[in-house]
Amino acid sequence: MKKIAAFCIPAHGHTNPMLPVVAELVRRGDELRFYSFGEFKEKIEKTGAAFVSCDAFLPPLKKEEEEKLKKVSATEMAIQDIRITLAMDAFLRAEFESFRPDVVFTDSVCFWGKLNAWKYNVPMVVSTSTFAFNRMSSRYMKNSPREMADLLLGLPRVNRELNRLRSCGYKVKGLLSLIQSDNDTDSVVYTSKRFQPYAESFSEHYLFAGPSVFADKQPAKHADRPLVYISMGTVINDRPDFYRKCIDALGGEALDVVISCGNSVAVESLGELPDNVKVFPHVAQPELLAEASAFITHCGMNSVSESLYMAAPMVLYPQTNEQEAVARRVREIGAGLMLEDDSVSGIRKAVLTLLTDPDYARAAEACCADFRSCPGAAGAADFIESAPHPSGGVDGMKS
Ligand code: UDP
Repeated sequence: MKKIAAFCIPAHGHTNPMLPVVAELVRRGDELRFYSFGEFKEKIEKTGAAFVSCDAFLPPLKKEEEEKLKKVSATEMAIQDIRITLAMDAFLRAEFESFRPDVVFTDSVCFWGKLNAWKYNVPMVVSTSTFAFNRMSSRYMKNSPREMADLLLGLPRVNRELNRLRSCGYKVKGLLSLIQSDNDTDSVVYTSKRFQPYAESFSEHYLFAGPSVFADKQPAKHADRPLVYISMGTVINDRPDFYRKCIDALGGEALDVVISCGNSVAVESLGELPDNVKVFPHVAQPELLAEASAFITHCGMNSVSESLYMAAPMVLYPQTNEQEAVARRVREIGAGLMLEDDSVSGIRKAVLTLLTDPDYARAAEACCADFRSCPGAAGAADFIESAPHPSGGVDGMKS
């Protein structure tokens, strides 16, 4: 039996894939403490892990900082994460001293999880909720000029914060070493080797566990009247304009539509809904995808993985570079098409093409079979329980 400390940033897309793994560890008798935030308490406690609230350490944000974070500025996110780490310093020292974890299981961009594992010399397994990134696979993700400028201009501020970390005894080389995992970092990645770009360039320290999905449903599509599911994820989902265009595009067609619009858009604000369209702030997404024949998605890694796990082909509507990278991989395996034209007629055309050309569904089914043959939550739990993993095999980045 191991004592395991789990850490994650306050984001559903990062927390969700850790949960089935945590539930599996608890089931085996390991003692889990999950350091997270009130919004996630309920779903963490459902796994059987002890929820430890870190809400008190979220620093109050100035309005302008919050705006930048909403636009996913890498500089602001890094500074925010470092400040949270510093605010938690004494609290986590006491936790590490009293709980004495055997392993830290932490999200790959959760600085306080990683930095405290290094500080207290506890074996660490990183949970990677996107593709695994190294210099090969990062070719998939091009930074825009705006993002490059944000990173370069923000560097002096980030460096000042990194120095504050060092003066508190944290071992940190630079920002990159905090964000990126190298080939010696034990990492769980929630996709298959087939779907991961340049999978061969990652060492045996990477476990490609396959999508981490709680639902044990099998795909069961509606043969006569297809179901189309639409979601822009949980972070940047304030898109009433887009939801309305989807409603106009698909209302009255011989299909059913479910839209998950998130909490920042009021369902009533979308106006009158045709009989075949339903809108909810939140749905049980994997269960819905099991029945969906098409998914209009922002291409978050979890949404795409869940879609392929449930054999649902996709209309791809990425909003960030990371989502562009995921969309590109879906296109390469043939399980989706880009929404090049997001007008009412463009949306209708893309959905109808996806539904009438069987190649998309076939590619999604092949991916579903591949994902379901992966080691899954049980494999990830084995990997965490047996950390740290010795080096010695072939390191694709060094050979
Ligand atoms: N999700 C859900 N219900 C909803 C909308 C989203 O359960 O109505 C879940 C979805 O299943 C996925 C996560 O929220 O696990 C979204 O993660 P993703 O990486 O796709 O996007 P993000 O929200 O991080 O942009």
